[in-house]
Amino acid sequence: MHNKVMGIDLGGTSVKLAILSEKGELLQKWSIPTDSSDHGIKIMPDIIGSIKHHLDLYQLTSADFLGIGMGSPGAVDRSEGTVTGAFNLNWRDLQPVREIMERETGIPFFIDNDANVAALGEKWRGAGGDNDDVVFITLGTGVGGGVVAGGYLIHGTAGSGGEIGHMTVDPDGFECTCGKKGCLETVASATGVVKLARKHAEEYAGDSTLKSLIDDGQEITSKMIFDFAKDGDALAVIVVDRFSYFLGLACSHIGNLLNPASIIVGGGVSAAGEFLLKKVNKHFSGFAFPNVQQSTKLKLAELGNDAGVIGACYLVVAHAEKC
Ligand code: ZN
Repeated sequence: MHNKVMGIDLGGTSVKLAILSEKGELLQKWSIPTDSSDHGIKIMPDIIGSIKHHLDLYQLTSADFLGIGMGSPGAVDRSEGTVTGAFNLNWRDLQPVREIMERETGIPFFIDNDANVAALGEKWRGAGGDNDDVVFITLGTGVGGGVVAGGYLIHGTAGSGGEIGHMTVDPDGFECTCGKKGCLETVASATGVVKLARKHAEEYAGDSTLKSLIDDGQEITSKMIFDFAKDGDALAVIVVDRFSYFLGLACSHIGNLLNPASIIVGGGVSAAGEFLLKKVNKHFSGFAFPNVQQSTKLKLAELGNDAGVIGACYLVVAHAEKC
């Protein structure tokens, strides 16, 4: 009894759910579509319906669970268990998520923001190797981050701890959606890499397939840019080197401040893999304090899409351990 945990990764297109043992073994995994119509009014009932259905299916009851953890977009109030301003869910107003979940399931509920929860997943069961000092950077449509220091997630005084995507890496750079200039997100997200490519294409005069595609008005993706760079396309190599410089610089600041055992890079853009990591490492080493260079390792994320559900489970486990 009380030896299982459930994790929920709430996203704009789907809700992923998983049941793990408290040691972290994945027992069951499923997902449902996110119905964000009518201000997202169906989201919580859909999740609860799906949980009840699966508990029946696996012949489990609330007594089997230590707790349910959830990673959510938007502004999460961990102590109140509420979410506000999750625009990709159409949740504008305050959502009393914990109150609904605990009333409907009878299982203790814990919540944090999605980037933090993914960081916990990689720390616990992914590339972090369950070390207590791990930083996670996710490079996707945006750039998110989560910091685990001394075994605890860092939230900061107003919840903006770990906003790695908004570290300034290029003070005179592109404008960011947050209102600043030159945030890491403006150069290292999927759209950021494309913006970098367009900028360098204007200045570049030599031979390059990437340049001819851009000049021809073709749609460019970050994957294409990394693939061209792997093939030695001269402009793509310049763009990937600039990208790696900015990411390496950000990682060095993180390393110098926190000296984590690992800085884990995940998300769609990181699919470029070791090729990318090697280039980032070169710049990281140049900027990092010598002892940080030696002891903080840059790594690729290992859990992919499962980081969220696994980290959500760890919210429960970590709470139980620290009680
Ligand atoms: Zn920003």
